Amino acid sequence: MDTARIGSNPEPQPELFYQATGSEVQLFEQADRFGMPVLIKGPTGCGKTRFIQHMAQRLGRKLYTVACHDDLTTADLVGRHLIGADGTFWQDGPLTRAVREGAICYLDEVIEARKDITVVLHPLADDRRILPLEATGEELQAAPGFMLVVSYNPGYRNLLKGLKPSTRQRFVAMSFDYPDAATESHIIQHESALDPARADQLVALGNAVRHLGQHDLEEAPSTRLLIHTARLIAAGMDPRQACEACMAQPLTDEPTAQAAIMDIVRLHF
Ligand code: ADP
Repeated sequence: MDTARIGSNPEPQPELFYQATGSEVQLFEQADRFGMPVLIKGPTGCGKTRFIQHMAQRLGRKLYTVACHDDLTTADLVGRHLIGADGTFWQDGPLTRAVREGAICYLDEVIEARKDITVVLHPLADDRRILPLEATGEELQAAPGFMLVVSYNPGYRNLLKGLKPSTRQRFVAMSFDYPDAATESHIIQHESALDPARADQLVALGNAVRHLGQHDLEEAPSTRLLIHTARLIAAGMDPRQACEACMAQPLTDEPTAQAAIMDIVRLHF
């Protein structure tokens, strides 16, 4: 398992900025109150991870984050026997640690993971809240405070891989999208220290590029991408150059699509 992809936050952290865009904070708190798992869908870079980090802080809960990928197996989540100097020993995976400690376990891009992980998620995601550890014979009852959170990007490439209804129906689901213009500008200003006028311009540009649609771009520019652009502009880089480096180039390799983006950039900067 690629351990660099797994993170936890054992130390108290300075409070992370999170700008709510609806009633997601209250919904998450209610889901937590009733021990219900949460599913968050939305395009990449629209604030899903930041939201979970914020909620973990707000609820005073430890957070285990797993970035799912197509080699991720049940053992990567649950744990496995390892061989040490004194023979074999069992090492908990991040899901098992979260279950034992009453922490939040966040599986980012869950539909990238192999299908067999749903077998361990099902009994955890309903009223039983149990995690059977086949390898050790244990059946863990999730500690109070344990919460399972999964996210995915329902973009067109993932349609065929979508979660099964029997899995989805166990979750409280919320849909995230790019924030409205005023909110996105506020987020960009906060994250990049760009002045309000240019942050507004950048948001207008981002929305214009988003309207190019899927024929031209595989994925629309995210809030994250606009923040990267804003940081370079705030640091003194020419806005067009910053847009080329942070927007046109990362979004596409197609020269015609890049040219279309740069045409829109020149209308705004
Ligand atoms: P996702 O998990 O959806 O791919 P992230 O949560 O990593 O996206 O968001 C990308 C970046 O955008 C964050 O690091 C943060 O700087 C910013 N961001 C997006 N939405 C918000 C928000 N509502 N409040 C604060 N920051 C946000």
